[in-house]
Amino acid sequence: MTTRHIAAARCGLTLCHDCGLLTRLAPLAHEANCPRCGARLHFRKPAAIARTWALLIAAVVLYIPANVLPVMYTSSLFGAQRDTILSGVVYLWISGSWSLAILVFVASIAVPMLKILALVFLLLSVQFHSTWQPKQRAKIYRVVEFVGRWSMLDIYVITILVALVQFDALATIKAGPAALAFGAVVVLTMFAAMAFDPRLIWDTAEGRHVQAS
Ligand SMILES: [Zn+2]
Repeated sequence: MTTRHIAAARCGLTLCHDCGLLTRLAPLAHEANCPRCGARLHFRKPAAIARTWALLIAAVVLYIPANVLPVMYTSSLFGAQRDTILSGVVYLWISGSWSLAILVFVASIAVPMLKILALVFLLLSVQFHSTWQPKQRAKIYRVVEFVGRWSMLDIYVITILVALVQFDALATIKAGPAALAFGAVVVLTMFAAMAFDPRLIWDTAEGRHVQAS
């Protein structure tokens, strides 16, 4: 027995994002509002690919200063020290806090990088109308979205945990410019994941063309 599924959009049906009302939309309707609550209606998130790319490129650009510039300045009786995220990780590793070094490395270097790569992969696959493993790609999207929800933890991970370990009554710790760039990377990748429309994966995989509006 085979199951048949048809995209709602193909039948001209769409759900209101705000109130959940199922509405029939004319196939060429560019301007439509929900008859119940007045919110804008569209079959797919408008310009999802272009918006996701824009946010992602901005994240990639800021990923560079986030890793190259100092993330924190420490000064104590023994002198001043400036650390990038990576030199902080190395410092933690050398001083024996291996688990913390791994945690900071994973949360602040590996996860943002993987998140960016995953979104680039999803975008390219949709843009080139790939039919490869839509279920796997949907799973990748869910992971990226799930990680995004916990991403604000990253900032606390570097600022608080590193500061705690290096804390010393006579030391002063100040956040460097990389902390700001890093925060922007986290927010931008989060918005990029939100701008992407995972239904596009299925539109191409099942060989249909759905208008964005
Ligand atoms: Zn509505």
